[in-house]
Amino acid sequence: MKKEFWIKVLNKASLAVRRRASAYLDSVRKVSSNEWVVESGEGVCYSVRLRGNDVVCTCPYYALEKGYCKHICAVAVQELALIEVYPWLKKLKERL
Ligand SMILES: [Zn+2]
Repeated sequence: MKKEFWIKVLNKASLAVRRRASAYLDSVRKVSSNEWVVESGEGVCYSVRLRGNDVVCTCPYYALEKGYCKHICAVAVQELALIEVYPWLKKLKERL
């Protein structure tokens, strides 16, 4: 997915949810090109998946249609890091 898509996702999520997502950044595991598993403490894992032009999660918050959850936000932040930060880090390394 493109950078713009993930930015749109983060913009749509509430500030409280985005703040909570920061605790899950280390728990995101990409399992395929369109699926991630986010470990949510106590051994509970939720699956975040691209579906059509959207992204969905298997957690109860998302199921209640409250909108994008912290797991989706955590995935969005990680994907943005892959798109934005990694190329930058690579460039930096090349210069060292
Ligand atoms: Zn979720």
